[in-house]
Amino acid sequence: MAWVYLIFILNLFFQIPHLSNSLERKDENFLSYAKKEELVEWMVGVRRKIHENPELGYEEFETSKLIRTELDKMGISYKHPIAITGVVGYIGSGNPPFVAIRADMDALPMQESVEWEHKSKNPGKMHACGHDAHVAMLLGAAKILQDHRDGLQGTVVLVFQPAEEGGGGAKKMIDAGALESVDAIFGLHVSPSMPVGTVASRPGPLLAASGFFEAVISGKGGHAAIPQHSIDPILAASNVIVSLQHLVSREADPLDSQVVTVAKFQGGGAFNVIPDSVTIAGTFRAFSKDSFMQLKQRIEEVIIGQAAVQRCNATVHFFADTKPFFPVTVNSKDLHEHFRNVAGDNLGVSNVKDMQPLMGSEDFSFYSEVIPGYFFFLGTQVESDGKVESVHSPYFTLNENALPYGAAMHASLAARYLLEHQPQVQLSQGQGKLHDEL
Ligand SMILES: [Zn+2]
Ligand SMILES: [Zn+2]
Repeated sequence: MAWVYLIFILNLFFQIPHLSNSLERKDENFLSYAKKEELVEWMVGVRRKIHENPELGYEEFETSKLIRTELDKMGISYKHPIAITGVVGYIGSGNPPFVAIRADMDALPMQESVEWEHKSKNPGKMHACGHDAHVAMLLGAAKILQDHRDGLQGTVVLVFQPAEEGGGGAKKMIDAGALESVDAIFGLHVSPSMPVGTVASRPGPLLAASGFFEAVISGKGGHAAIPQHSIDPILAASNVIVSLQHLVSREADPLDSQVVTVAKFQGGGAFNVIPDSVTIAGTFRAFSKDSFMQLKQRIEEVIIGQAAVQRCNATVHFFADTKPFFPVTVNSKDLHEHFRNVAGDNLGVSNVKDMQPLMGSEDFSFYSEVIPGYFFFLGTQVESDGKVESVHSPYFTLNENALPYGAAMHASLAARYLLEHQPQVQLSQGQGKLHDEL
């Protein structure tokens, strides 16, 4: 037994420097590998196919099928269904450490206004947030990693999730066990305002926590010329909206960024009729859980209280079951160093940017709430365009030249993470025992 143990220890001792050399060499080549014509053409094809057939959250059946078909072709094993349409693939040894890379699959309920060969074929649905490219790049990374699987010192977990756009698909993936044994997770988002070949992020809070609310303010309808016989919900709702704006301007710490926006106001239908009720709805954002929960509580109090001043009743809903609150997206400080090193080596240090936090939100935050996570933006600016169409615009486009950069970043972040997170403790314990036995 002692000999077996000794051989095992010696193996560990001699293998690790040797393997790390070979993997580092391959690792540095992932961008040039990702830029191979055949791989790029395939990723572009995948992206366009998904772009033509956008599917909304939890309805990504064809997208999920396409992903599974490609994984089958590559010989990558996976679990499905997870969270209805989700797919979780595995590449590597099947042993720890485990590192995850993630893509979201869903489109938005909006009509595409871009006239091009691969325009959305599903009326009223569009990949205007680049999730089609996210899937193509994660599949690209899968291909790169599978081609280099012999050098992987652990297991890469591919997370294809449904319903990022408000549906909280990430939360359902976690509930279904997608992160079991996973030590860290990386995710990216396309950025139409950053040049291709650049990436940006920051350590700590990156994106805000977000929630939605809707309120029905009820009064008593009647003739618009005889207001004394009515209770006017339009005026009450107007005052509610003004009062809601005081939450950020008068109650929040000016150095603690928060947003309350009423984005929907529905009521009435005639010039001369006071309606029975008005519905308002909107979103709220904050950068800490405490600020977020405080804001939620005050939104409810202000709506009900201010409506009562105008003799109206109000009910407030936060849709916690269908539109779960997104936590703050917080980037691990350790993974920030890892990201900077990997991105610097792949893209050159001048193409790795720091950025300010954004009030936007991402359900990636559910992952980084549970395990160390890191989220970053990938430049997908369209070169010929003077003006930038933001994500969620019906005119949104992205530069497909960015696909190999995203694929290489995913693959390099994961492969090098495994390499640098080998069970060192075991090794040093082993070394100690080796000395004792000798
Ligand atoms: Zn989006
Ligand atoms: Zn998105």
